[in-house]
Amino acid sequence: LSVRTEIIEVDRESPQPAAMTTAAEVLRRGGLVAFPTETVYGLGANALDASAVRCIFEAKGRPATNPVIVHVASAEELSRVAAQVSELAGALARAFWPGALTLVLPRCAEIPDVVTAGGETVAVRVPNHPVALALLKAAGVPIAAPSANRSESLSPTTAAHVLKGLDGRVDLVLDGGPARGGIESTVLDLSGPEPTILRPGLVTREQIAAVLGVQVALRTAGEDSAELARSPGQMRRHYAPRVPLELSEASAARIAILAAGGVRVGWLALTSDEGIVACGAPVRKLVLPRDPQGYAAGLFAALHALEDAGCQRIVVEKPPLDPEWLAIHDRLSRAVAAE
Ligand code: AMP
Ligand code: MG
Repeated sequence: LSVRTEIIEVDRESPQPAAMTTAAEVLRRGGLVAFPTETVYGLGANALDASAVRCIFEAKGRPATNPVIVHVASAEELSRVAAQVSELAGALARAFWPGALTLVLPRCAEIPDVVTAGGETVAVRVPNHPVALALLKAAGVPIAAPSANRSESLSPTTAAHVLKGLDGRVDLVLDGGPARGGIESTVLDLSGPEPTILRPGLVTREQIAAVLGVQVALRTAGEDSAELARSPGQMRRHYAPRVPLELSEASAARIAILAAGGVRVGWLALTSDEGIVACGAPVRKLVLPRDPQGYAAGLFAALHALEDAGCQRIVVEKPPLDPEWLAIHDRLSRAVAAE
């Protein structure tokens, strides 16, 4: 599979209608469009077109057992995707949409099996990004879109990251600048007896519990592969750079040992500073802020930069363990996991 990948720059705040028309046409004829959301870049296809969605799996090298998230333009469109919308789902949609909360609900018959990996539930959300929303409106169909990277690799927060993995595998990339959230949506399963977070993300467990007025369960990935397959975010190895990554509680000392041994190391450190600051060779050091939102916003961009800099190993200073850091620990621990 090799297509000529077209790239169109779009204005984040008011995306050019002509660009949206072009992208919508690609989607309606069964093609793939990568686009920015408030979390990471998505790799989109018409969710009602089974063969188009199959192209997503092929482009990513994604196992067919991993379902994909469906995006809709507004909560009113939920009925095109989900069979029943419970009161809880309605309350969460009102509280968090458009936003980074994905709800797992009973599916509707029009959603092809490939989207849900054959399961009876569908994951759906309304993205909070002007380009994603304009694209959904122009296309007039729900858009299935996992993150726009090859399976298991680092998630993309810029159009350049998308091209790194998918150039020649996607018809069109809408470049709307960096995705500001930086990590994926929270996936909340509402199809079982109690609301359960399948993947922690930008919306916190505490925020969801505050809306529902009840405790929210958190599914921790067991080693059971059937359970893992229910949710690709649960795959043990995921979000990983091409070089080994380790977490360290005393990263400066660890870096000193590795560098003394002649290893070209990438160091992802923490500070209270804002933004990413680069310095020093042969150790390449990037610094992320010590607040969970700022850290999430820069995490994948920093890991891409260290990977691209030719580091042989990446050492990440272990972030704080407080609940607001849950989603970040989830991503880092999967990036560490050995094959
Ligand atoms: P990605 O698109 O790569 O961000 O991963 C898609 C995410 O969608 C996974 O982490 C899953 O948790 C979630 N997902 C999609 N469909 C379903 C579903 N039907 N049931 C449970 N999780 C789902
Ligand atoms: Mg992904």
